Amino acid sequence: MFHVTELSQFRKCRTAWSYKYQEQLQHKTAVNYNSLLGTNVHYALAGYYARDFNPIVQFKRKCEESPSSPEVDEMNILGTIMLEGYLECYKDEKLEVVSVEVPYTAMMGNYDLIGTLDLVVKIDGLIYGVDHKTCKTFTNPEDVSNDDQMSAYIYLLSKYFGYENVGGMIYNQLLKKIPASPQLLKNGSLSKDKSIVTTRQKYYDAIIENGLNPDDYEDILYKIECTYKFYDRMVTTRTEHELKTWEQNTIAQMSDMSTPLVYPNVSKDHIGGCARCSFYTLCRATRVSSDLDYVNEIRDTEFEVCTDEFHGTDMEEMSE
Ligand code: SF4
Repeated sequence: MFHVTELSQFRKCRTAWSYKYQEQLQHKTAVNYNSLLGTNVHYALAGYYARDFNPIVQFKRKCEESPSSPEVDEMNILGTIMLEGYLECYKDEKLEVVSVEVPYTAMMGNYDLIGTLDLVVKIDGLIYGVDHKTCKTFTNPEDVSNDDQMSAYIYLLSKYFGYENVGGMIYNQLLKKIPASPQLLKNGSLSKDKSIVTTRQKYYDAIIENGLNPDDYEDILYKIECTYKFYDRMVTTRTEHELKTWEQNTIAQMSDMSTPLVYPNVSKDHIGGCARCSFYTLCRATRVSSDLDYVNEIRDTEFEVCTDEFHGTDMEEMSE
């Protein structure tokens, strides 16, 4: 059985794939707060869509599991603001939830493929998968239409619900950015500097807090509303022919993965580059030294076996 998240990792670097998915290794200390923020936001949104739990409470609770540090405090503030804005942005939507964090599987040739969808919803009679993404910038639509993971999820949904019943995948993006507060000028008014990156709500709140008249700020409020987005949803689809081709290619890859020849893809050019790879010290040690004791010492002191359910999301986040 192969998991959707490991397909692209195998193509990027077989050694990293082997460390992560075969040996289930993860670095002991190098906490990737970007990745942790994404994991905790996923956890919060899962509780929200599955059981109507308050996602901010869920998020804060999840953050408390990490040892206290300035980075965790920063993550806590950023995630809370992101989720507050998310609730405000989508407060009027009524989603018909089909499943939350449920694994879907399909038999492909001699192999099973499994993928856990963050959320599956029904809109106007069609099934859509939803993939939550916390990101520094919104992804280009062209990149989403070529995203192999989205193809995998549409494939799995099509196998389960029937191609004609699936509308596609919704790429649900939450920007990792805190909306700025407008500057209060000496004359008591708010700055109308158009370069401010904020939300209409944040600017409006500042108007009210300072006892000002919203009518005097309609121009900048309109500009902010039209210019800046902190949340974006993009629907991506695949033709039946695309899915057929994807299926053939993926079966060939899975055949390769079932008896893999593992070799490092040493490069400064591939996504993230070796220098940003969490397995760098171990991988480099195996390349530069024939001393097995030395390699094993690095493995034992720096790495641990991790079997937690979100282990598979780390490398994906590394590509941001
Ligand atoms: S350091 Fe480079 S070659 Fe080694 S596992 Fe990581 S990505 Fe692959």
